[in-house]
Formats: sequence, structure tokens, C-alpha cells
Amino acid sequence: MISINDKNISQIEDLFKEKSYQKFRAKQVFHNIHVNRINDFEGMTDLPLKMREELKKDFKIDSVKLLETFSSKLDSTKKYLLELDDKNIIEAVYMDYKDRSTICISSQVGCRMGCTFCASTKNGLVRNMTASELIEEVYLLERLNGPISNIVIMGIGEPLDNFTNIEKFIEIITDPKGRNLSHRSITLSTSGLVPQIYKLADTKLDVNLAVSLHYADDKKRAKFMPIAKKYSIDQLIKATDYYFDQTGRRVSFEYVVIDKVNNLDEDVENLHDLLFGKNVHINLIPLNPIEEFKHDKPKMSALDEFKNKLSRRGLNATIRKSMGQDIDASCGQLRNNYAR
Ligand code: SAH
Repeated sequence: MISINDKNISQIEDLFKEKSYQKFRAKQVFHNIHVNRINDFEGMTDLPLKMREELKKDFKIDSVKLLETFSSKLDSTKKYLLELDDKNIIEAVYMDYKDRSTICISSQVGCRMGCTFCASTKNGLVRNMTASELIEEVYLLERLNGPISNIVIMGIGEPLDNFTNIEKFIEIITDPKGRNLSHRSITLSTSGLVPQIYKLADTKLDVNLAVSLHYADDKKRAKFMPIAKKYSIDQLIKATDYYFDQTGRRVSFEYVVIDKVNNLDEDVENLHDLLFGKNVHINLIPLNPIEEFKHDKPKMSALDEFKNKLSRRGLNATIRKSMGQDIDASCGQLRNNYAR
């Protein structure tokens, strides 16, 4: 069966031509899905009954169902366990700041990147999420919380390892005739798949790019992130420079602070040598301890000290505000706990 919610109007027109539906039906269906947010053909009551019956046989909208909600008592953060049609489980997060609401979405069921500190990858990759599921993931969160202003693709999975579906997803979610989310309000986070960063730069997707750097030294990085064995930090930085040149978007580097491991003075110097003078931003993230990675959460004082040392070396760094501390299961942990 063909997914329909990941197609734009002209693509639906082409599909409908084969079925000899009138051209205007495509616009109606697209509008029903992306504006009226109807995710079953039965509910599209502006279509003839017979057509609705036929559509059900030929087309589908992958469903994403709410399984469980974890609400923070400290702020408005909510974490969700979501179930896909084949019973696979993913996670998403809703965060509300003063002037914007952001959702963090998963892009794959599991992950094959193998970063030692990350819970999402512990059981490997099960499968890619489809573009249809990615769209429904967003629409479900909007059904639950109202319209959101930003999307970060930083949940379970490596988005650039699921390039085609992510591309389709971003094209549809930014379609001016549908959800019309601005490209600027989408951030994609990658562990550093160098060829795909070039590929992304050459698309029209024009999203913000965040790169999980975490270590400014190849040997150290490779110990924790297998992808670093494939692409050197030099290659990675060349790719992000290219991304900036092509899109004009300042790249941000995520840096999970693991106390006494990657916040040493040598790390400050390595980061300086790598990034000084570049129009980039460093996002310091306190490690969220997971069972399989025996390191503690860094103290706020250690984070502050590291940040100040970076500032003194002329690097632009901020500490990411942790939301939903009391439900602090880091990404992938809820899913793992559920499976257990
Ligand atoms: N695969 C992509 C996106 C998902 S991970 C990527 O690697 O960027 C989103 C972010 O969470 C990454 O920066 C990742 O390194 C970070 N992360 C993973 N495990 C973490 C943990 N235990 N504590 C804090 N951040 C973590």
C-alpha cells in the first residue's frame, strides 16, 4: 500500500490520475490530512463514500499511537512512549519555554551508531521510521499539546542514516500549502555522517544542523563513538564548514560533558584549535547517566568551570537547560525500560 500523507499535492494528483479521480480531489485529501488533521479516510466526509472506500484499499497513513505519558512535576515537559503499527516503540518529548514549544522526535526504531553513552543504540537498529510515521509523530504531539513552534530531530535514531525518509518528512512538514512549518524552526542532530552532511547541504531542506562532537580528539572520540573510526574530526569540520557555506546557518556542536573524561584542560585546547574563529556554537549537555555507561552526571560547578574555560579561549558555549529533570530518563531509556 502507498502512503499518502508523505506526498505533496502534485504527487497525489499523479497517483489519483492513475485511479481516474478528478484532479481537485488531490488538494482536498492533502488539505484534510495536513490542515484538518484527519488521519483516516472515513473521516474525510467531503469525499464521496465510494471514493473513501477505494482510498482505504489503495492508500494508507501509518499510525502512531500514544502508549504512555510521563509528565514532569517541575516544568511542563512531557515524555511520550509511542507505538507504531508493527508494535515497535519510539519516544518523543514535548517542551514548553516562554515563547516557544519544541518537540524532540525519534527518527528510527533503535540506532546502529553504537555510541557507548547512549541508551537508544543499546539494542541496535530495528528499522527506519517511514516519512508517513514521522509526520504522524508530529501531528500526534500537536493533537496532544496544540501547535508547536520547533522540531528537533534528536530523539531515538540517527536521522542521516534514514536520509530519504527524513528528506520527504521535512519537505512535507514545511509545505506552504500544508503544515507550513518554517525550515528555520527545524534542527537535525547527527553523530557525524560526513557524506550525508554534504548531501543535506546540497538539498533545499535548509534546516539547522547540530553535530554531536563530544570529543575534539580523534582517538578519544573513537573510543566512545564508533562513527569516529570512519570519519576524522577534520573531515567532519570540513563538512560542517561546507554546510555553513551552502546554507548560511550557524552549525552547533553538541558536547555531552562527562566529568574528568572530556572536560580536561587538553579538551579546552583541542576545542580551541578546532573551532576558534568559526561562526559556531557549542552546546554543553550534562551527561544523563545510563546503566550501561559507568559515569556520573557532572556537577553544575564542573559544567560552569568548563564553560568559563572555553569562553576565556574565545569559544561560544552555553549549557543546555535540562528540562523534565524528574523524568530524566535520557532518550532511549524509556523504551528500554518498557521492553524490559
Ligand atoms: N543520532 C543523533 C541524534 C540523536 S542523539 C546524534 O547523535 O546527534 C541526540 C543527542 O543526545 C546527541 O548529541 C547525543 O550524543 C546525546 N546523548 C546521547 N546519550 C546521551 C546521554 N546519556 N546523556 C546526554 N546526552 C546524550
